Amino acid sequence: MSLILGIDLGTTNSLAAYMTPAGPVVVRDASGNALVPSVVAFGEGGVTVGAAARAHAVENPLATIYSVKRLMGKGLADVGGDLKYLAYPVVAGRGGMACVKVAGREITPQELSAAVLREVKARSEAAIGAEIRQAVITVPAYFDDSQRQATRDAGRIAGLEVRRIVNEPTAAALAYGLGRKGDSTIAVYDLGGGTFDISILRISGGVFQVLATDGDTHLGGDDLDMELIELIASEIRDRLGRDMAFPPATRQAMRNFAEAAKIRLSSQDQARIEIDLGAAGRLERTITREEFEARAAKWVDHTIEHCRSALAGAGLTADRIDQVVMVGGCTRIPLVSRRVGEFFARVPYTAINPDEVVAMGAAVQAGILAGVQRDTLLLDVIPLSLGIETLGGAMGKLIMRNSTVPCQASETFTTYAAGQTSVDIHVLQGERELARDCRSLGRFQLRGIPPMPAGAPRISVTFLIDANGILNVSARELRSGREAGVQITPAHGLTSGEVDAMVKESYTHAIADLTEHRLIDLRNEAGRILAAIDKAVAEVGAVMSPAQRAAMDEAVGDLKAKMEGGDPDALYAAMKAANEAAMPLTQMQMDQVLQKTVMGRKIDEV
Ligand code: AMP
Repeated sequence: MSLILGIDLGTTNSLAAYMTPAGPVVVRDASGNALVPSVVAFGEGGVTVGAAARAHAVENPLATIYSVKRLMGKGLADVGGDLKYLAYPVVAGRGGMACVKVAGREITPQELSAAVLREVKARSEAAIGAEIRQAVITVPAYFDDSQRQATRDAGRIAGLEVRRIVNEPTAAALAYGLGRKGDSTIAVYDLGGGTFDISILRISGGVFQVLATDGDTHLGGDDLDMELIELIASEIRDRLGRDMAFPPATRQAMRNFAEAAKIRLSSQDQARIEIDLGAAGRLERTITREEFEARAAKWVDHTIEHCRSALAGAGLTADRIDQVVMVGGCTRIPLVSRRVGEFFARVPYTAINPDEVVAMGAAVQAGILAGVQRDTLLLDVIPLSLGIETLGGAMGKLIMRNSTVPCQASETFTTYAAGQTSVDIHVLQGERELARDCRSLGRFQLRGIPPMPAGAPRISVTFLIDANGILNVSARELRSGREAGVQITPAHGLTSGEVDAMVKESYTHAIADLTEHRLIDLRNEAGRILAAIDKAVAEVGAVMSPAQRAAMDEAVGDLKAKMEGGDPDALYAAMKAANEAAMPLTQMQMDQVLQKTVMGRKIDEV
C-alpha cells in the first residue's frame, strides 16, 4: 500500500505529515523546518516556491503571489474585501473566476496552489525516500463546495490523487484525540493567517463526531496585520500628506513590518518599527502590546461570537466543553488565549504545536484511509446548508448545515412546457433566505427528458454530499426510468476538462524539462566530437581529399549551428553527419593506432 501524505495547505504556510506505527510524523527539511511558505514567485530565473519566493516579495511585489487560498474557488466579485490584502493584480478569468495576473498571464488559484503542493510533495518525497501519489488535504471547515473542489483540483494538477478533503479543525481533533481513552467534548479554535474556524466535537470510543462548526473565511492574522499597517500608514500620512498613495513595494514592506511586530508582541510588551521614508527621514515607532490589543480586540470578539454560535449549533453551553484545542499561528497571541480561556472557562490546550497539529491530523486521516489506523472513525459535518433556487428567487434548503456527511437529499422536478426536454436547476449553498444572498455553486441542466405533456415528467434529482463535503448530483426521470444527463457548470471553478488540460500541461512541462535535459547531454557530446575532429585534423588532416575536407567542414559548421538551436533530434542528426564526414580521419587515426600496436607488439616479441 503506497503512503498517503497528510497536507495542511495553509493561507500563509503549508506542511505535510505522514502516519507511522508510532503516530503521525511531520515532514521537515535538513534544518528542521516544517513550514513551506505558501508563496509562489515568478522571476527571471523561473518560478520559485516557499521561503525563496517569500524573500522576493519586497523586490518583486507584483510577481510574488501569497495568500492565494483567499481566492480559491471564488469569483472576482466575491473577493472584493480580500483585494486590500493582496499587492498583486487579481482579475476576472473565465466565467468571472478570480485569477492572478502575473508575468503577462492569467493564472488560476488552483494552479498556484498546485505549485505549493508540488513543493510540499517534493520535499516529502525527499524526506521519506518514496514517491507520493496520494494525499489527504485539509481545508477550513467553512469552505464551501467550490472552494473544496478548487482544492481537490489543485491536488490533481500537482499530480496527487486527493483521497480526502478534511476540515482543518476536525484534523486537529484527530491529532489531539488519537489514543485518548474515555469520552470527551472538545472545541477546536483555529485562528490562522486568513481564516477562523471553530468546531465542537465529541470523541467517544474512537469515534470523532463533529457536532457543529462555525467560523469566518475572512478573519485571521492578516486582519491584525492590517490594523498595524493602518496605524503605520496613518502616521506616515501625517508626515507626508494625507492623500499619499503607497506603491506596491512599500505596501509589501509595511506588511512585513506589521507581521513581524505582531509576532514580537506575542512574547514582548513592545515592538519597535523603523521605516526609511527617503527624503522625509525615518519613521521610528514603538508599538505597545496594549495598543495592539486595543486594535485587535474587535477581531478576537468576532471569533468569540462564532464560538457562541457553534455551541448553540451543538446544543451545548460553554461549561460542557472539556478541552479547547488551539490551532493556527494566531493562537499564540496572548489576547487570543486569554479571551478564549475566559469564554470557555478553562486554560486552552497548547501541547501540540499549533502550526503542526492540522497536518498531523491529516496524517491520521490518511492512516485511517490506508488501513493503518483501524480503531478510529471520523464523522464530519457539512458546514453550510445546500439548496436550490425556487420560484421567485428564494433558497429552498435540501440539506441542512451541520448534517453528518456523507448525506443525501432528493427532490422531484417537472416540466412547465409541453415536450420540454431539459430543466435548469440552480444550486446554492448558504444560510440566507434569498438565492441572491447565498453562494451560487453552479447551474445544473437536466437533459434527455423524454418529450411529454407539461408537468407529466417526474425527474428525481439526488444531491449527495460525499465524505469530502463535495456535492455530487444524479438524476432520473421516474416515469420512463431514463437517467437524465446532468451537466454541471461550476460557478467559479474549473471544469474537469480544464483540470485535465492543466495536468497535461504539467506533463508537457515534464516533457519540456526532459527535452532540456537531453539537449544538455547532446551538446556536451557534440563538444567532445568537435574537439576530437580538431585533434584529428591536426594529426592526420593531410590524408583527406579536398572534397572530403569541404564536406567535413560543412558538416562541422552545421553541427555548431545545431548546438546553438533547441532541437535535440536535429542536433543528434548533425552529430551523426559530422562523425561520418570525419570518417577518413578517424579511419587513418585507427590505422595509426593499430600500426603502433602491431609495431609495439612486434617490439615486445623481439
Ligand atoms: P497559520 O495560517 O496557522 O499558518 O497562521 C499564520 C498566522 O499566524 C499569520 O498571520 C502569522 O503572522 C501568525 N503568527 C504566527 N506566529 C505568531 C506568533 N508567535 N504570534 C502572533 N501571530 C503569529
